Amino acid sequence: MNMHSLPPSALRGEGMTSQRARDRLAAKLMEEGITDKRVIEVIRNLARHHFIDQALHSRAYENTALPIGHGQTISQPYIVARMSQALIEHGIPDRVLEVGTGSGYQAAVLAALVPQVYTVERIEELLRQARRRFRQLGITNLRSKHDDGKLGWPEEAPFDAIILTAAGDSIPLQLLNQLRPGGVLVAPVGSPSQQMLLRLRMGEDGDFTQEELGSVSFVPLLGGIG
Ligand code: SAM
Repeated sequence: MNMHSLPPSALRGEGMTSQRARDRLAAKLMEEGITDKRVIEVIRNLARHHFIDQALHSRAYENTALPIGHGQTISQPYIVARMSQALIEHGIPDRVLEVGTGSGYQAAVLAALVPQVYTVERIEELLRQARRRFRQLGITNLRSKHDDGKLGWPEEAPFDAIILTAAGDSIPLQLLNQLRPGGVLVAPVGSPSQQMLLRLRMGEDGDFTQEELGSVSFVPLLGGIG
């Protein structure tokens, strides 16, 4: 398994945050159709309770989105697994850009699967908390930035894969321009009431093919910084 090792600090937990609760979550994800063993193992081993407020720790391993403050959410584990699987299905991308760091959980899952993660968040306080978690968990193959993620991270482009964890009406052109030929982009697209998870693959000739991966419900992709 080509999995980047998770540091021991990411693995501790007791009671409702125990390994047993994580095993149950992993079993649930498999029941719901997640087939990639690498993704299942990362989610089984990564302590999701580190990424949410202590008052919600008892719910950390439920297959549900949870509030993280500032009107934002940590995504449902099934969605994190589905998007991660879609990103690595045709080969492990070397460098991945995430738009919407939020709690940092999706970024930490990706950091266990791929060599290098870049993540951008527009709400400074959320990014500050996520950075503290990355430090505490000893995650080092990840860089983060406070900015409008619609602009991507031009200084670090091109990326082998891009993932958006907030939904816009369309995929910003700046992001498509920062994808390497042969790269993959996974994003929810649509209105707050009707969104579809899309996977775009860019051929070596620069043309895109698009697949629909299912209906989803994400917070909106906003412009500017908060
Ligand atoms: N990946 C996150 C996680 O694992 O917790 C999901 C967080 S939430 C579903 C989406 C995040 O996208 C929010 O934190 C929100 O502030 C952020 N966001 C929305 N529009 C953005 C933009 N233009 N640039 C950067 N972040 C954005």
